[in-house]
Amino acid sequence: MNTTESRPGGILTLRVAHVIRETRDAVSLELAPASEQAKAVEYRPGQFLTLRIPSDLTGSVSRCYSLSSAPHENVPLKVTVKRTPGGYGSNWLCDNAIAGMAIDALPPAGVFTPASLDDDVLLVAAGSGITPVLSILKSVLSAGSGHCTLIYANRDEQSVIFAAELADLSARHPDRLLVVHWLETVQGLPTRAHLAALARPWCDREAFICGPGPFMDAASDALIGLGADRKRVHVEKFVSLSGNPFETAAPERTDSGESAAVEVELDGQTYEFPWPRQRVLLDVLLANGLAAPYSCREGACSACTCRIVSGQVEMRHNEVLDDADLAEGYVLACQAVPVTDTVQVTYS
Ligand SMILES: Cc1cc2nc3c(=O)[nH]c(=O)nc-3n(C[C@H](O)[C@H](O)[C@H](O)COP(=O)(O)OP(=O)(O)OC[C@H]3O[C@@H](n4cnc5c(N)ncnc54)[C@H](O)[C@@H]3O)c2cc1C
Repeated sequence: MNTTESRPGGILTLRVAHVIRETRDAVSLELAPASEQAKAVEYRPGQFLTLRIPSDLTGSVSRCYSLSSAPHENVPLKVTVKRTPGGYGSNWLCDNAIAGMAIDALPPAGVFTPASLDDDVLLVAAGSGITPVLSILKSVLSAGSGHCTLIYANRDEQSVIFAAELADLSARHPDRLLVVHWLETVQGLPTRAHLAALARPWCDREAFICGPGPFMDAASDALIGLGADRKRVHVEKFVSLSGNPFETAAPERTDSGESAAVEVELDGQTYEFPWPRQRVLLDVLLANGLAAPYSCREGACSACTCRIVSGQVEMRHNEVLDDADLAEGYVLACQAVPVTDTVQVTYS
């Protein structure tokens, strides 16, 4: 039996083609799909993969890693993993990933991605938060016409991931890319006031922020304080999944109780199902045999994001979609329950 086709969400098996030591505590893995899976790994800049990491203790753990490669550059898929002190998954990958190894992954997912590569963007990253931001930056430079300003904070010079690549990009695009480095060893921790001072000239741009929680709070507060439109400030939170989508059985089908009706467009096909009012959309779709995408199932990662075309739902929990996403009708299928009697949803 082919596991890729039989499991919800379509598990992929990727081969580690190269391991690149980026800094003392970060590695990049170049990942190659089997040729028949090439379409399934198509991605947008800023999206992430969910990887299955072996564990003697639990069989496996799942962790999300943003793609640091750019989809428009015809280069291998690349994720970049930074060690979390005491963390299991990141250290396992940094210590054990070798060329030739096979690793299970869920297809690319996430909404931390620009609507247009022709718009000017402000990118604010700290530490491993550079990964999705670099993908956006390279995509804008290679496939769009936008200008990029990157404010990039790190502990010290040795911990700057992609320092050489950023220097090269700055040299090649002096009129479209400005990189502002901030080193804690030199300037101390970047505060809201520091970030506001740096960001002021570009605060009317679409902004993408990624890094540790307090850094992202300081950066988004700084931008909002400067008058930026909240809907144009996007953040990507790096959290560890507590569930394991690779080892979760598909939910049972139950048609009992009061139901709404849902029409779903997924992978070019349209389906209709009763939607029991107490069940979340993802469970309804999986129970009916659809390969709907998902990862955390706890409202924290955005892998299951879909868009409401008509009708209304409410989410039980949402840590990841921002005001801009909500205004465009995006919802998390793993948290959505129906409000209206009929709901139309699309994954396109
Ligand atoms: C959308 C998204 C994108 C992300 N992108 C990136 C990225 O580009 N780069 C990056 O570096 N990080 C990224 N992250 C963060 C990443 O997913 C992890 O959260 C991070 O690497 C820390 O994971 P960890 O397992 O090392 O640490 P922790 O989650 O802190 O690991 C500790 C946990 O592992 C358990 N554990 C300990 N030993 C074992 C064992 N033997 N078996 C099983 N469990 C064990 C412990 O109980 C504990 O719960 C991203 C996260 C998200 C949500």
